[in-house]
Parts: sequence; C-alpha cells; structure tokens
Amino acid sequence: MKTTARVVVIGGGVVGCSVLYHLTKAGWKDVVLVERDILTSGSTWHAAGGFHTLNGDPNVAKLQGYTIALYDELEKISGQSCGLHRSGGLFLADTKERMEWLKMAHARARYLNLETELLSLSDAKKLNPLFDEKQFYGAMLDAADGNLDPEGTTHAYAKSARIGGAEIYQGTRVQELNHRADGSWDVITDKGNIHAEHVVNCGGLWAREVGRMVGIELPVLAMEHMYLVTDEVPEVVAYNKEHGKEVSHIIDFKSEIYMRQERTGLVLGTYEQDCRPWQPKQTPWEFGRELLQPDLDRIAPNLELGYKHFPALAKAGIKRVINGPFTFTPDGNPLVGPVQGVKNFWCACGVMAGFSQGGGVGLALSQWMVNNDPGFDVWAMDVSRFGEWATRSYTNEKVRENYSKRFSIRFPNEELPAARPQQTTALYDVLIAQGAVMGDSWGMETPLWYAPKGVEPKDVVSFHRSNDFAHVKAEVLRTRNGVGVTEIANFAKYKFSGVGAEAFLSHILTNKMPKTGRMILSPMLNPAGKLIGDFTLAKAADDLFYMWGSSQAQKYHMRWFEQHLPAEGGVVIERMDMNLVGLSIAGPKSRDVLQALTDEDVSNAGFKFMDHRRMDIANVSGLVNRVTYSGDLGYEIWVRPEYQRKLYDGIMKAGQAHGIVHFGMRALLSMRLEKNFPTWYRELRPIYGGFEADMGRFIDLTKNDFIGREAAAEEKKTGGKLRRVSMVVEAGDADVLGDEPIWHKGKVVGWVTSGGFAHYLNKSMAQGYIPKELVGDDEFEIEIIGEMRKASIVHEPLFDPKGEKMRS
Ligand SMILES: Cc1cc2nc3c(=O)[nH]c(=O)nc-3n(C[C@H](O)[C@H](O)[C@H](O)COP(=O)(O)OP(=O)(O)OC[C@H]3O[C@@H](n4cnc5c(N)ncnc54)[C@H](O)[C@@H]3O)c2cc1C
Repeated sequence: MKTTARVVVIGGGVVGCSVLYHLTKAGWKDVVLVERDILTSGSTWHAAGGFHTLNGDPNVAKLQGYTIALYDELEKISGQSCGLHRSGGLFLADTKERMEWLKMAHARARYLNLETELLSLSDAKKLNPLFDEKQFYGAMLDAADGNLDPEGTTHAYAKSARIGGAEIYQGTRVQELNHRADGSWDVITDKGNIHAEHVVNCGGLWAREVGRMVGIELPVLAMEHMYLVTDEVPEVVAYNKEHGKEVSHIIDFKSEIYMRQERTGLVLGTYEQDCRPWQPKQTPWEFGRELLQPDLDRIAPNLELGYKHFPALAKAGIKRVINGPFTFTPDGNPLVGPVQGVKNFWCACGVMAGFSQGGGVGLALSQWMVNNDPGFDVWAMDVSRFGEWATRSYTNEKVRENYSKRFSIRFPNEELPAARPQQTTALYDVLIAQGAVMGDSWGMETPLWYAPKGVEPKDVVSFHRSNDFAHVKAEVLRTRNGVGVTEIANFAKYKFSGVGAEAFLSHILTNKMPKTGRMILSPMLNPAGKLIGDFTLAKAADDLFYMWGSSQAQKYHMRWFEQHLPAEGGVVIERMDMNLVGLSIAGPKSRDVLQALTDEDVSNAGFKFMDHRRMDIANVSGLVNRVTYSGDLGYEIWVRPEYQRKLYDGIMKAGQAHGIVHFGMRALLSMRLEKNFPTWYRELRPIYGGFEADMGRFIDLTKNDFIGREAAAEEKKTGGKLRRVSMVVEAGDADVLGDEPIWHKGKVVGWVTSGGFAHYLNKSMAQGYIPKELVGDDEFEIEIIGEMRKASIVHEPLFDPKGEKMRS
C-alpha cells in the first residue's frame, strides 16, 4: 500500500469508484481508493439498478443525462459489461395534476435536450402492456431510462480508474483522519497510514461516520428500501416474443411503485408512506453484505394498489424480497463538494440514485478538485446548501418526509411541514397572529403572505394561480400606494472588519468600493467570469463593512470568502445569522414612517438612495439602508434580535396614520419582477456571466484587479452567448414557475428562470435567458403547462423605469 497519495477516496461503492475514475480522467494519477470490505459492499451491491434522467432540478437532470451516456464509454475502456438494458421508461399519470406535472417535465426536457415524449395510454401500452388503462390519465416516455448490473458497473468504473493509474485497496478501513497544519491529511487505516493532500468522503452508508472523523455532522440518513422479484410473468414473456424487446420501465406515482423487467419476471419497488430509517444514530462498522428483514405489511397498501393497476402482478409469484438500506439527504439530492471550514475535505455522499447520478457526481467533484471549479451548476447538490440547523434529528424528520414523498407531486407553492418551525424570530407569533402564512427559508420561518381576517391562512397547492393571489395583490397595491412592512431576517448578513477588509472585498467583488456611509450592489465572479454571488455592501467605517446576500448561499459564500482570505491576515469575517434581524418598510409613505421614529434627518437630501447609517429608530439602535428590493422608496432596518419587537411595535404605531400593511415574500418577489430585478439562484447562477445576466453596470473593469476580471473583460468584448431578459407573458390562469422553455419561430431557444404575476402592473411576467442575437426580436412563446403563450421582451422596467421613485 502506498504511504503517500494526492487523493484518498474513502469508499468503494459506485460513487467512490466514479470519483476515482473521473480524477484519473481529469489528469490526477496519484489517487487511491480505500474500501473497508470489498467493492460494492455498502448499498451498491443490492440496488435495483434502475436509471433515469428526470430530476426536479434541471442541472441535476443534465448530470443524470451525462451519467447514463457514460456507460458505453466505461464498457469500452474497461472491457467490463455494465449489463445495460436501455428499455425506456414510462411515467404514468393518474390525475389531471400529475399529467400537468408530466407536461411541465416534458417541456423542461426540451431545453435540456433530453428525449421525452407525451403518449396516449394506447401508445404507452405498446411499450408495456401490463397496466390497466382505466386507472390512468396519460403517460410520458423517457427514452434514456433503463437498468443495469450494479456490480458490473461499479467494477467497470474501478477497472477504468486502474487503467488510468489509480490504486484500490480493499479490506482496508479508514479509522481516523488527522489534519496537519498545512491542510493535508494523515489517513489512518487498519492496514497502515497514507499521507494525502485531499480526502474524499464517499462513505455511503457510513458517510455520516466518516464526517464525524473530521468533526462534522452531515445531514445524511439511511432508509430501509424494499423491492420484490417475481417469478416468470406470462404477459412479459408473450410481449418479449411478439416485440423482440423488453417491456419498458414504469413509474406509477399513485401506487408509489417502480417496476421493470428482470429476466422473464419483474422487479417492483415501492416508496411507501410507512417508511423506516435505518441506524438513525450510528451505522455499525461490522455491517457487511447483509440484507434487512423484509416487512411486507409496510408496503401492503402500495402492493394492493399495484395489483389493481397491473393485473398481471396479482397473479405472479414472488421469488425474492430485498430489503436494503441506502442514504438520503433532507431534500433528496446528494452532498457534493468541499466542506466549508475543513480544508481539503471533500464529499460525494448522500447519493440516493447512484446509477443515475454517480457519473455526474464523479465528474463534477473531480473537476472541482482539479480546476477549483465543478464546471457545472451543481448548486442543487452542493454540500454547503444545508446550514447548522440541519441537525441529526432534523435530518431524520426531513428524510422520512422526502422518502415518503418521492413519488408525490411537488407544487410550486407547497411548503413541506416536517421539522418546522426550526428557526423563528421574536416576531413569529406576532406575525402569525396577523395572518402570516409562513415558508421555510434556509431553516428560518419567513412570512410568505398574509390572510386577512376571516380567510384561512393556508396555501391551496396548485400549478395555477391560487388562493393567495388576491391577498398578495392587495399587499402589493397597498405598499406601492402607501406603505408596507415585511420581515427580512432571513437575508444573509456578513460583517467584514480589519485593516485588510476593503482590499479583500475589492478583490472578490466586481464593483467599486463604497465611500463611508454609502452602499453598492455588486456581483461576485469566479475566475471564469461566472456569477457566484450578488450582494449589497455597506461601508460603515474605515475598516468595517456589512454585506447582505442570499440566505440559502451562506455557507457557499463563506467557503469562497475563507478560501480567498489573504495569507497576511488583516480581515475578520463574521456570519451574522440571527444576531442581526431586519424589517423593511417600502412605499411612498415609508419615509414619513421612518421620520416619525427618529430625530435624524431622513429627508431625501439628508439620507439619499443607497445611504447607510446607524441611527436610533423607535429608541433602538439600528443600521438603516436606504434601499428595498421592491424598487420603491424604502428602507431596510437591521437591529439586534432583542430589539426587533420594539422596532416592529414602533413601525406599526407610526405606520397606522398611513395605513401600513404587512406584506410577505411573495409580494416582494412580485414587485421585483416589475423592476426587472434578478434573484440569486434563479437568474444569477454560476452558469451565467455577469454581462449575460445584464449586471454589467455593477462590474467595474477599471478598478483594481478582481477575481474574474479578465474573463469579464472578454465577455464584455464578445457580449457572451446569452442574455437575461424580462418578458410580459399572455398567460391564462397559470404564470410561469421557472424552467419552462422559451420558443422562437417554432424552436426552443431559451428557458425561463423565474416569474409570476406582477400585481401592480397587472401583468404576468417572466425572466429567462435567450441567445443574445435574439434580444431585438419579439416573436417569443413560453410553454406553460403544455400551452404556448405569447411573450414579449420588456427592455426597461415597466414600473418606474428611470428609478425616480426609489431615488426621490
Ligand atoms: C434496495 C435498494 C434498491 C436500490 N435501487 C436503486 C436503483 O434502482 N437505482 C439507483 O440508482 N440506485 C438504487 N439504489 C441506491 C444505490 O444503491 C445508491 O445510490 C448507491 O449504492 C450509493 O453508492 P455509494 O457509493 O454512495 O455508497 P455505498 O454503496 O454505501 O458505498 C460506500 C462504501 O464505502 C465504504 N466505506 C465506508 N466507510 C469506510 C471507511 N471508513 N473506510 C473504508 N471504506 C469505507 C463501504 O464499505 C462501502 O463499500 C438502491 C438501493 C437499495 C438499498
């Protein structure tokens, strides 16, 4: 066994072997994999081996597409068969809502270049005759779906990695990970030690335990999962004979069953409601290639429905029942990437669909390690997307919820209830009493909208406009015409101090630094000039800055800040979390409300747009920013949490004379649409350049050198490929949700990033990306739930195009 290596990959399941292979492919040869037992001995060996491209996140769907296409290459390199059966997959809809969901998935697949097709039930029957069409509404075919041999595939990765120069040590357990001062690792195994620059946690069922070796608790939990293998099914044999091919895969959302052909019979698995976590506290190291005791009672409701939906199943004998554990995260997507605060420790775990995602995970992680950039938008899988609030017991509740909803429809306005409320501010009960309907924002309860007296404060989930529509409209109109207040505690807030703070910020941000008492908006770019952040920065004093950004990206951004701290020191960064909580007042009367609460001069001359000042408001010392995301006259006021209630009471009292109204995040997001303001994570993501995203006015190429400057200068010269646009849509009773294709003269040319109803303008709006050459054109259509809707670009904000309201 080697005693030094550039990388030690821990775990020889399908994911570890994929990471190892991709590292060699990316050019790193001095890489080893250490496996406790033999390859595949975690959850990999007993997987059902199905693969598919469908995923709620388009970027994950793309990586799934990559994984599935990779198998031919692996077979060629390794000479090892993956046992591929590319039979295609049918998704069966039993309701109108599910059919709408399929229509949206199909529309999204168009711009992802995935091969899906909506089918009538009779056409679907030609691919798999086993279902009873009386039980269903319609179907979608995903031609890329199929199944494989889990062991063969893992060995194909491993052999390909060995051919590329990697070494694999089986029967070798990592027992300890010790960090050296230079950030490298002593990997202590029961067969000797390896000194490595990097360590990758591909521990699968033991990923949590491997995380604990470096002092972190990863939000990962194994669940029991059962599938049945039937005896021969005569209908399957007859189909094979008649058509010369296998029956296609099926996912039946209603019975929560997936099913595929296995020899002359079927494999049938369930995502049952009565699900069970496995080893909720600690996975035993001695757990070997074992299966768990089946418990058919738990899946009996699924089987009962399944027998009704697939009559041939009811007659088939059961040959084997497999019950095995595999891991999930609270949102079902993997944990990939470098762990903030633990140098050179990487994760590729929590992968619940190793045969759909393993290749993409390996590719992204290897590029990240070798090039310091994953090369894709991997936000949906980034290990940094969970905060400290995702504790072990929180994970347990969320994973059970996720497992049992695996085949349920997720509606855009649906807030999942498990493990909530997790974090609340001092205003939580007060706002609930005002009718607030809360949503989860990075573990924090945040008002979405307010139900007036007599209206139930509850969302009716739908793909169409729903019961909140009229109430959000009222919040927008009353704010735009008077004044509204909203809680913004969920924003990310950071404090930068020290003699090096300004130089550091100027190096990581694209805009010129503000003068003391002023603010700027600034994107943050990676070296490739792609957007990795968007912030509001205030200079409070010479060596003191406050910065606000997106709540979900707090760990993601902290990881970046820490990676780029100057070696000579001089910068202290603090993530403020709930030590700074905020309220925003917006609308033409907001200045009157603020003035009533302070003896400072907050007239337009005394406190200008983008000013920042500490002042007493309602007897409370707060940081006040003259800015609001609503694009109106407005202010953000930030105080320590113990003063938030006092501030709120003051605002409500002073606001009474002006008819102050509460508004929630949905009203705020509606108002930003009519200002063409983008949002982080939808319009602003690491697949877009700053100029493509129309953020050029915040990128100052003349200031000092900053990360991404060269690439940004090039993009400014060429104009990049894409352009972010705002559009008015001739919608029906459904607005865009995001990820719809944008059509132009009969071709899909772009995609929607977000949108909704702009209530003040009374228009349905969308934002998205199209090729820059088409920006002057006007013949666009957006496919909303299967219907083509005319869309036209708006070249300047329809609300207050010159920004006079926010400046006066
Ligand atoms: C019943 C069942 C059906 C499934 N069906 C499908 C399916 O149809 N399609 C699909 O895509 N997925 C399916 N899965 C899920 C799939 O099995 C997983 O996504 C995949 O196996 C995850 O692979 P992994 O490499 O992350 O983890 P694992 O397979 O668990 O591998 C982790 C490896 O790390 C090793 N290890 C851990 N700690 C150490 C240490 N300290 N030192 C050395 N080695 C260590 C372990 O021994 C293990 O071999 C199914 C799972 C089950 C249980």
